[in-house]
Amino acid sequence: MSKTPMMACGHAANATSQGKPCCVICLGDPKSRQVVDLPDLTGRLTKCTYGDKIVESSVNLAFFEYTGPGSRESTNKCKCGYFLLAHLPYWAVHIRVVRRWFKHENSDSITIRRIHATEDTKEAAAEQEADFFRRMMGENHREETRVKSVEVVKICASTGGIECNKFDPVGSQKYDKYYCGCHGWN
Ligand SMILES: [Zn+2]
Ligand SMILES: [Zn+2]
Ligand SMILES: [Zn+2]
Repeated sequence: MSKTPMMACGHAANATSQGKPCCVICLGDPKSRQVVDLPDLTGRLTKCTYGDKIVESSVNLAFFEYTGPGSRESTNKCKCGYFLLAHLPYWAVHIRVVRRWFKHENSDSITIRRIHATEDTKEAAAEQEADFFRRMMGENHREETRVKSVEVVKICASTGGIECNKFDPVGSQKYDKYYCGCHGWN
């Protein structure tokens, strides 16, 4: 039997998309579509995320996630429980959206979206937030609420991020993760 491919998000592939392996748990993250080398699972054990069942690690287990040396979990997750991204500065992005709103020809509003990003990446990240509204432009979107223009007008430091201010990775974990089926398969 051929082995299930390992994805860059840390999960063994658990679905296919357009004929290619992917991870549905991390959908939307580019890493969920990127195949990486299989980690060395020799001697590693894996524990069910929803119970206590422990078995030998294998990429063929359901929803298998590698958490050993070099894994995403070990390097990207902090001892506080949050991922690296949440430790970056927190910003409020003000997005001006002009759209048709039923009978109103030009409804003009400011929407605030909050993001984590570095000083260098905040502008690109803000534009990605604005893209959410840009997808409502054009002929494919229903006319009554179609968006006419989208513009990032301001990015300011936001309050309300996490309390942890020093990212400290959890490191290699004792158990990998999988799902044994203890809560059914639906
Ligand atoms: Zn994943
Ligand atoms: Zn932290
Ligand atoms: Zn279980």
